[in-house]
Amino acid sequence: MELLFMGLASTYEAEHIARMFFPGAKMVSARCAPGHPCVRVRRAGARVMCGVRTQEKCLVKVFHLPAETSPKQEEYEVCSALYTLLKQATGIRPPWGMLTGVRPVRLVHELHRKGLDEAQQRAFFCRRNDVSEEKYKLAVQIAKNQQEVINHNILRSYSLYISIPFCPSRCSYCSFVSTTTEKSGVLVAPYLEKLEEELHHIADMAARLSLRLETVYIGGGTPTAISACQLAHLMETVHREFDMSCVREFTVEAGRPDCTTPEKLAAIHEGGATRISINPQTLSDEVLRAIGRRHTAQDVLDCFAAARAAGHKNINMDLIAGLPLDTPAGFEKSLAGVLALSPENITVHTLTLKRASNLVMQAAPPAYGDVAQMVQHSIDTLPGAGYVPYYLYRQKGTLQNLENTGWAKPGFAGLYNIYIMEEVHTILSAGAGGSTKLVGPAGRIERVFNHKYPLEYLNHFDEVLARKQKIEDLYGKWFDLDPETAG
Ligand code: SF4
Repeated sequence: MELLFMGLASTYEAEHIARMFFPGAKMVSARCAPGHPCVRVRRAGARVMCGVRTQEKCLVKVFHLPAETSPKQEEYEVCSALYTLLKQATGIRPPWGMLTGVRPVRLVHELHRKGLDEAQQRAFFCRRNDVSEEKYKLAVQIAKNQQEVINHNILRSYSLYISIPFCPSRCSYCSFVSTTTEKSGVLVAPYLEKLEEELHHIADMAARLSLRLETVYIGGGTPTAISACQLAHLMETVHREFDMSCVREFTVEAGRPDCTTPEKLAAIHEGGATRISINPQTLSDEVLRAIGRRHTAQDVLDCFAAARAAGHKNINMDLIAGLPLDTPAGFEKSLAGVLALSPENITVHTLTLKRASNLVMQAAPPAYGDVAQMVQHSIDTLPGAGYVPYYLYRQKGTLQNLENTGWAKPGFAGLYNIYIMEEVHTILSAGAGGSTKLVGPAGRIERVFNHKYPLEYLNHFDEVLARKQKIEDLYGKWFDLDPETAG
């Protein structure tokens, strides 16, 4: 499949719409090869021509944009025409319609803030963007479930993210910034030393700016790829450096059972974690092997038991719908196995294929099974087991354009997940790959990036600290630094 867009002011949205139907399609800049399946959109003045050619069908629509249409409306008209044509040509109806943004729940909050009532919101989602009734209801329900957590926030609230970019081995679908301890184990100790220095720097700045720390999240990578002693030291550093008096959640990802020992689970508990994440992704040994995990389903169950024995009372477990070799029946079995453990949180992801992942780089695509059926099964099952959905996001390249949803037992919603996804407050990030997101007045967002990989981070550490000056400069601009205006 080839995609050709000509004469459009913005091809980005149109390309995104086409990719929902043909995920692996190649962008071409001249004519599509004769006889090849392709999507073409061509604009000349007010005249727009959309064409979709598949093996079975060739559909064309020509229309004229109304005079004096805003660029935004023009983009919508083109995308809408293309979307309708693609639906007709493929027979596919994407569950999120032509909504391409990654945060549908945030959109619900925005429409609500703008004063749109329920009927207007529904019209925006379901009529204008062809979102299915089920997905619209899910987004609205999640927005309601988040309200109390969001209301707790003040302008100077922030969360702290700490990156441990090391893993025991690389999963085939992974596109995160992470390196294996096998390959880069020698970097762990110097990395942690610099990380401590960066945390000291951030803590000083947060104190000067009178920021209020709400949640701490140690993620990666796999934080449990480092030793129990190193984990304990890192958590001690956080307690020593930061004002923890308002912290309501301290999460540590203990994602992989192949490096999460009882000793590390005890260190994390003693270090003050209030929430951990053990991520089986699947409970099928065959699928685990297919994604490059060096552990079995039994290891996950043992790890969970060890976490309970260490005193962890709030555990999240991640599952992924659409993994290679998985099937709807296999996914149902994994979900049933996770439910039998009764974790406080279950996050159901849909597989996302990004360019950096091995799955994409391998020539032969895996058989994904019926992903929509898997996701729907989780939506049908989890409420009956006492879980409510509390956050949702989508990513580019996700199979069938589906979503990732966090489910929690009442009172156990992951606060950090809500804060980062709905962009309600600043996230200050430390470590390689850390992306600081500053949320200012009126939802203004600015970003400061750390270097991506551990070696880069170590070699350019002075620059990492220097870039952080932007945080202070922006807060200085946004607020007058008078504690009275802390919001
Ligand atoms: S554990 Fe997570 S970060 Fe590490 S390789 Fe697997 S998917 Fe990537």
